[in-house]
Amino acid sequence: MKKNKCWIVKIGSALLTNNGKGIDKDLISEWVEQIVELQSHNIDVVLVSSGSIVEGMKRLGWKDKPTDIHKLQAAAAVGQMGLVQAYEYLFAKHKVQTAQVLLTQDNLTNTKHFENISATLENLLEFGAVPVINENDTVATEEIKFGDNDTLAALVANFLNAERLIILTDQHGVFDDDPRVNKNASLIKEIHFDDEKLERVAGKTGGILGSGGMYSKVMAAKQAAKSKTFSNIAWGREESVLTRIYQGENIGTLIHC
Ligand code: GLU
Repeated sequence: MKKNKCWIVKIGSALLTNNGKGIDKDLISEWVEQIVELQSHNIDVVLVSSGSIVEGMKRLGWKDKPTDIHKLQAAAAVGQMGLVQAYEYLFAKHKVQTAQVLLTQDNLTNTKHFENISATLENLLEFGAVPVINENDTVATEEIKFGDNDTLAALVANFLNAERLIILTDQHGVFDDDPRVNKNASLIKEIHFDDEKLERVAGKTGGILGSGGMYSKVMAAKQAAKSKTFSNIAWGREESVLTRIYQGENIGTLIHC
């Protein structure tokens, strides 16, 4: 039997929560529909979803994002409940099972855990379930501090030898200059992961709600290239973004490996 291809779809906090307003179920339901369509084309989809901290802040009635890391960890634990509820509810409409998988970067690089994670994910994908991965924020703080789950998503792509990593974000992709400052900045449609221009243009500062910014997305694409995984960094609100990428359209920035 031919093995299915595997795609990792990573969704960032600001996008998923409509800039902090709370989990955007309408938007998620559009991605869910597209993921179900990808499955019908024999593509196994693994979601890596942020958003737990922002949802937790909303549930706890916090207006400003605290700087205290343990408060953020607690908010993540509260918000994760809402996050998985939303995915479960929306995938169930298509009779597709979802599974919560909380991991740390260390889990994915430590051989002691390798077999267990691999066997669990393999079984889930075999059942047609969609694993919804987030960092285990009670245990680790890497993604809270620096990454917005971008690195985690890349490590998952390496782990599963994914064909593609799609990083959905609130930006249209990687620009050749900072589009917030330079109106003439243009979108880089395609680039090789090794092109030195890539890191230079990504900038190191993120937004307020997510923690990664474009830099960690570019670094994630470079990491993903290690397993010969192509990456797209694309605007998550682009109509049918996932299925159009499947049809061969080049949306956002495509990073070749
Ligand atoms: N695991 C965190 C979350 O789900 C990611 C950190 C972030 O989004 O800034 O919120």
